[in-house]
Amino acid sequence: MTSVLVVGSINMDLVVTASQFPRPGETLCGSHFATFPGGKGANQAVAAARLGASVTMLGCVGDDSFGQNLLAGLQAENIDTQWISRIPGTPTGVASITVCEAENAITVIPGANHALSVEHIAQADAAFAATDVVLAQLETPLPTILAAAQRARLHGKPFILNPAPAVVLPQELLDLVSLLTPNQHELATALDVSGDDWRAQLASLPGRVVMTLGKEGAAYITPTGQIIEQAGFTVRAIDTTGAGDTFNGALAAFWRQGPAAALRLACAAGALSVTRAGAQSGMPTLAELTRFLE
Ligand code: ADP
Repeated sequence: MTSVLVVGSINMDLVVTASQFPRPGETLCGSHFATFPGGKGANQAVAAARLGASVTMLGCVGDDSFGQNLLAGLQAENIDTQWISRIPGTPTGVASITVCEAENAITVIPGANHALSVEHIAQADAAFAATDVVLAQLETPLPTILAAAQRARLHGKPFILNPAPAVVLPQELLDLVSLLTPNQHELATALDVSGDDWRAQLASLPGRVVMTLGKEGAAYITPTGQIIEQAGFTVRAIDTTGAGDTFNGALAAFWRQGPAAALRLACAAGALSVTRAGAQSGMPTLAELTRFLE
């Protein structure tokens, strides 16, 4: 069993469904409301845990009921939450999402996610020492991510970075990344280049990028510069929310099986996730993945 340490965000998604978006100053009556656990960090932790990895999460929630519920949810997925801090006087991260027909409007309040500090990383040294792989995203402060990458390097552990949401990555961080897992847009942004020649962009980081290509699957560039493409699995897509997070959790969980095997398993997990509604609710278990690939 691979152990994965996920360093990242933990959010509650608050989803309002209405027949139209309110204009400034207007009050409307919507039709549905629901809360869903989210945040790229927590989503990827759940994906890896469902697929059989032994997962530890390092992050922050507020000292409020959302924080309490999210911690309980992670624990129910067998995720070790001992390194999740509860920050007094700070709200748990939320995403306020209004859905209107096929469109949505989203406001993210990072809240406690922005309290994840360099000190939290240092305090969790034992977690870095104990894990096989470290997996991070960019919904927590960049200096914290850099500290996590440095600590992973200190312990000789692979550092997988899903560079989402897209930002230009500082060279210092890029140098510490064992594996970058962008989609096409995130790759160009991370490298601060323009154009859509992703093959040329991959070539600048041989052996260190897996790029996701939506329903087309994913591509990996070997240390010698050969591009391995894994075709996407053909499924009936219902909801693509969480496909990238499922892919990343799976990739970390299976990375020790080698790039080709990990890519295939992660693409299959991503494909399965789009056949079901929701982010975490659509993530497959190892048994479901095995059955899908039979
Ligand atoms: P992101 O949401 O981060 O842009 P992608 O859309 O590339 O991520 O999806 C991640 C992975 O999920 C893809 O590499 C692919 O393997 C799988 N996937 C996504 N959408 C589909 C789809 N419609 N059919 C099959 N597989 C999909």
